[in-house]
Amino acid sequence: MINLVNLKRQLQSVKEEILQGIKDVIDNGDYILGPKVKELEEKIARKLGVREAIAVANGTDALILTLDAYGIGKGDEVITTPFTFFATAEAISRVGAIPVFTDVDPLTFNLNPLEIEKRITSSTKAIIPVHLFGLPSEMDELNEIAKKHGLLVIEDACQAFGATYKDRWVGSLGDAACFSFFPTKNLGTIGDGGVITTSNIKLADKIRKLRTHGSTKKYYHDRIGYNSRLDEIHAAILLVNLTKIDHWNGERRKIAGRYRQYLKEISHIKLPNELSDRTHIYHLYCIESDYRKEIIGALYKEKIQTGIYYPRCLHLQEVYSSFNYKEGDFPIAESLSERLFAIPMHPFLTESEQDKIIEIIKETGGA
Ligand SMILES: *Cc1c(COP(=O)(O)O)cnc(C)c1O
Repeated sequence: MINLVNLKRQLQSVKEEILQGIKDVIDNGDYILGPKVKELEEKIARKLGVREAIAVANGTDALILTLDAYGIGKGDEVITTPFTFFATAEAISRVGAIPVFTDVDPLTFNLNPLEIEKRITSSTKAIIPVHLFGLPSEMDELNEIAKKHGLLVIEDACQAFGATYKDRWVGSLGDAACFSFFPTKNLGTIGDGGVITTSNIKLADKIRKLRTHGSTKKYYHDRIGYNSRLDEIHAAILLVNLTKIDHWNGERRKIAGRYRQYLKEISHIKLPNELSDRTHIYHLYCIESDYRKEIIGALYKEKIQTGIYYPRCLHLQEVYSSFNYKEGDFPIAESLSERLFAIPMHPFLTESEQDKIIEIIKETGGA
């Protein structure tokens, strides 16, 4: 079987360093918000060129704590994409605000800045662009719209650690950014984790307080918070993976380059776009085709795993039926949900595995 991701191979390559890191944690005796979490936060902030990084329990909490720290809640609206993992909208709903969806750009699959202004009302507080599959959003345009209307920009960077936009790192491009360290993310641990990055020190202080029950001094609480911390053990693992991430992202880009080289001539598929002003780190490699079912079927027969991201747009989810969106509201996102599929992509995919995948896609004709 050739899997979409192969975490076992990745972990084998860093196993000794990770075991050493875990051993350090056991020997340190400081298991919650200890030196590894602090070191990880400092290293991430330094790498991404922001003043603060706050590690939390997962990417969803990163979004929830950020929204909460900004005081976004009941009656507020937050504009986001209908073509993302559910957690983006769930976090908005979780704090009591309303996710307002708007269509994506067919070139990037990310929020289309041209569609956003129509959706802004007096209740709009923020925009959450998602750097989907590892490709940065149109940040200059989004920041300009946000500035004009007094809105916040919170990057959902859960799929894009190490991607760049106009030579700046994702995670440093808005007011705050949220990352996930779920195992299958391009920078992940062997459990759950997340981080918020920002250069707003006041915001960082508020988020630090929120992650430990609304308290800065133990047993004294001045607001209702959460229990949302990154475990010391995961910080130890992430400190190892952080030293590899640029190399791993580079390997992903090399594989994407080979896919492009050998698949670009095929007329019944459309490959992900490479844009000159940003780097795609290919958290997922998604191909568009009217023949999705046939190609997936042919790959499956040869024991090659594929995935559909995402089979149902968020505006059409049952949980949001009360918002009265209907099919046809966001034609680009809906078309992508019917036509996109992911093929294996991870830093340890061998050339012979890539060649097999390429061969089968080539052989599976269109009309
Ligand atoms: C994975 C993901 C999240 C949620 O992260 P978790 O760590 O699983 O909570 C949020 N947004 C996007 C775009 C994601 O891909």
